[in-house]
Amino acid sequence: MPSLNDIRSTFLDYFARNGHEVVDSSPLVPRNDPTLMFTNSGMVQFKNLFTGLEHRDYTRATTSQKCVRAGGKHNDLDNVGYTARHHTFFEMLGNFSFGDYFKSEAIPFAWELLTRDFDIPKDRLLVTVYHTDDEAADMWKKVAGLSDDRIIRIPTDDNFWRMGPTGPCGPCTEIFFDHGPEIWGGPPGSPEEDGDRFIEIWNLVFMQNEQHDDGSLTELPNQSIDTGMGLERIGALLQGKHDNYDTDLMRALIEASAHATSSDPDGPGKTHHRVIADHLRATSFLIADGVLPANDGRGYVLRRIMRRAMRHAHMLGAQDPVMHRLVPALVTQMGGHFTELREAQALIAETLRAEETRFRQTLDRGLKLLDAEMTDLSDDADLPGATAFKLYDTFGFPLDLTQDALRERGRKVDVDGFDAAMADQKARARAAWSGSGEAADATIWLDLADRMGGTEFLGYKTETAEGQV
Ligand code: ATP
Ligand code: MG
Ligand code: MG
Ligand code: MG
Repeated sequence: MPSLNDIRSTFLDYFARNGHEVVDSSPLVPRNDPTLMFTNSGMVQFKNLFTGLEHRDYTRATTSQKCVRAGGKHNDLDNVGYTARHHTFFEMLGNFSFGDYFKSEAIPFAWELLTRDFDIPKDRLLVTVYHTDDEAADMWKKVAGLSDDRIIRIPTDDNFWRMGPTGPCGPCTEIFFDHGPEIWGGPPGSPEEDGDRFIEIWNLVFMQNEQHDDGSLTELPNQSIDTGMGLERIGALLQGKHDNYDTDLMRALIEASAHATSSDPDGPGKTHHRVIADHLRATSFLIADGVLPANDGRGYVLRRIMRRAMRHAHMLGAQDPVMHRLVPALVTQMGGHFTELREAQALIAETLRAEETRFRQTLDRGLKLLDAEMTDLSDDADLPGATAFKLYDTFGFPLDLTQDALRERGRKVDVDGFDAAMADQKARARAAWSGSGEAADATIWLDLADRMGGTEFLGYKTETAEGQV
């Protein structure tokens, strides 16, 4: 059975054999795009090649790109632990053509790799195309011999990709694998499509248009290809599994988590182990790429992921910091291909240990407060925003951590109430400063308070910025 490491190599070797330059993954913090929080797809590092702003000495490339989808337009944080197919960190395998080949080669490449090299049974595969893209539909018929009912025409933006409001764009075709009728879900375009029976494995984007300011579309002079396939998803199916978390790599991390917490990997704490395994990867790769936990921006997203994982470890009964003890298992699994993990191993472990030590000081008390509040609430009531805000402000619980904790009990947070409590506190902080006569200092403090996430100013003796995110 091929490991995820084997599958990554098979993919890159296949495209190398077909004239593609094997390019390293770019870092998770995009170098060329300050508007993007994290690299979330393979094309990010090639943006300027697609637009023609930049040229390199190759026109075909292949990568296994590190991606994080835990904020911004693509946010899969809430899916982790609940679907079979989503991670916050994953690897996106891709092949790219910069004005070189187009549909008539991209579709046969994908089909040949899947059905010949990976030997996936043809009758388990189906595809979507953009509803007007007859060219792609005909190509699938010709190349793959797919019947009409296996070429699903989708009229929505799910099958029309855009780089942004203007710029290169075009239709895409997505390849799905049918994991079988015993799993709930329907084919793409059906009401049950969000189920996990039909899993999207590969998305091929045909960049053939340019969108202009006035909304009009013109044909691009150089047509390009951008594809993305989740390594963990193709891995699951090649390993005869339905669930990404049952692949060799994720399983090794889940077992490390079970070992470190002396609990059963498949027992009642199963979801906790899945979340821990996922968040360990996101956290470690982000730290290796230079992000450190902080109270704003990228660092705050990292902190949210770390603290969420730490609550799950706590739920498994861990008394001491756990996350840093899982780093060696991750380095064993992934440090061969991603050497930055090895290089940053000590920093990753130390950052995790320090954060978990600190967060533990308030985690337990915060969870007790949450429990107490829940017993007082009527059966279906939302958690009041003021309580969620207190957890945030005094106990360092990011809002999504509280939401995650409540989801296990089928409850929600009153988010409007939370926002109101936050706004109220900012207003009070401002009011407390007006009249002090130190306008310049006040502005600096208020800016700081905003950046820190609006912690209440209680005087210099309080450690405002630390545990109170
Ligand atoms: P889905 O509809 O399942 O959320 P997507 O359409 O958002 O996937 P794309 O943006 O097309 O995904 O990304 C290309 C490929 O990357 C997908 O076909 C899938 O194999 C993989 N992928 C996307 N998001 C994730 C994720 N959160 N975890 C693991 N793999 C993912
Ligand atoms: Mg998605
Ligand atoms: Mg999709
Ligand atoms: Mg897609």
